Amino acid sequence: TQAFLDRMAQTRDLNAFITETPERALADAAGSDQKLRAGTARPLEGLPLAVKDNYCTEGVPTTAGSHILNNFVPCYESTVTRKVWDAGAVLLGKTNMDEFAMGSSTMTSHFGPTRNPLKAQNDPRHRVPGGSSGGSASAVAARSALAALGSDTGGSVRQPASFCGVVGLKPTYGRCSRWGLIAYASSLDQAGPIARTVRDAAILLNAIAGPDEKDSTSVNQSVPDFELFAGQPVKGMRIGIPKEYRLDGLRDDVVALWEHGAAMLRDQGADVVEVSLPMSRYALPAYYIIAMAEASSNLSRFDGVRYGLRVDGDSLAEMIENTRAEGFGEEVKRRILLGTFTLSAGYYDAYYRKAQQVRMLIKRDFDTVFGSVDALLYPTSPIPAFPVGELMDDPVAMYLIDVYTITVNLAGLPAMSVPAGTSAEGLPLGLQVVGKPFEEGTVIRVGEALV
Ligand code: GLN
Repeated sequence: TQAFLDRMAQTRDLNAFITETPERALADAAGSDQKLRAGTARPLEGLPLAVKDNYCTEGVPTTAGSHILNNFVPCYESTVTRKVWDAGAVLLGKTNMDEFAMGSSTMTSHFGPTRNPLKAQNDPRHRVPGGSSGGSASAVAARSALAALGSDTGGSVRQPASFCGVVGLKPTYGRCSRWGLIAYASSLDQAGPIARTVRDAAILLNAIAGPDEKDSTSVNQSVPDFELFAGQPVKGMRIGIPKEYRLDGLRDDVVALWEHGAAMLRDQGADVVEVSLPMSRYALPAYYIIAMAEASSNLSRFDGVRYGLRVDGDSLAEMIENTRAEGFGEEVKRRILLGTFTLSAGYYDAYYRKAQQVRMLIKRDFDTVFGSVDALLYPTSPIPAFPVGELMDDPVAMYLIDVYTITVNLAGLPAMSVPAGTSAEGLPLGLQVVGKPFEEGTVIRVGEALV
């Protein structure tokens, strides 16, 4: 723990952490030390973790990357973080993120952008770590945390893992409790580990998975020992390559990475076949309509009355207006406005209902394909990490880079990004493995075969 705290201090220029908790970390570590010596170690005993700042942590400030949660200190602990502390893990600090997890770069944070510890060859510019769990991925890549918790609504665990050369796992919707995880889009949000190895991610998933009576969308499914899947052979498995995902203009290095991954699985005895997911081409608009609609509703609770920032006004209405005007950043406001628009009378059928219908068709495509294959393989992101500052003034271009991650959130499936290669400019590239609902084990098995 001390070594990780030292490393955090050395790498503070990355801005990976919003809050550091060194005193608590050392106290937790001392407790773990005793348990280890007594031979009563729990599964994550003494492992120093970083936690994305949208998990409510009792007694530790929680901001979700927003000014509106200024000075908010939760009086309760999220289920997922409670589980990792109960398993013996040590909290190093809370990591930076796009405001309310809205973004793909960690640049929309009120606390400034996080940097990727990796740089391109012959290019001194700082790169983004991806987002929205960019602080968590940056910390793991910089070795200032052994592993981290992120959350994934449309790729926020997998895309930063791809950008930072680490592993990111999004479990099946309902596999982990969302209780105490600050909501962005409730029908898409899921907790997920970011780690250096597939096995580490599996070990963390063991700790965070399982039903919770406080979250009615968590599912009562047995939780296997996911670690046992890492290293199991992929011989005889059927792996699908969705042909529509080979987008026009996809970069050569990303195409090569994908082909290399398919060849690796084939060499190990898997049957790699082409499959079709025709409805996925409508996933981006459907995702952004649904995510913004749910966000506009979820974010109505930030009114200056109950917690966080309050900016006074002459009336209650004015106080709420002033608080929200000052407390929310530009991207969050854009999404509240668009989400409110698509839910309003007269537009609901044209946008929101249509998006829900498209979501169902996308899900059906996956159901069909999973009748004949065990898992799917495709890139995590069409691009590697881009320079800090880029794409900030072009929200639509920023939304488009989520093309490979959002479909599995719409369909509720488990997926993992593994570091699988290097881009033309020497940056990490991730490959994504997607599985059937509640078959994270298969995803882990195939993921491990790719690294
Ligand atoms: N980039 C996507 C968005 O902004 C996904 C973010 C996430 O998974 N939290 O909505």
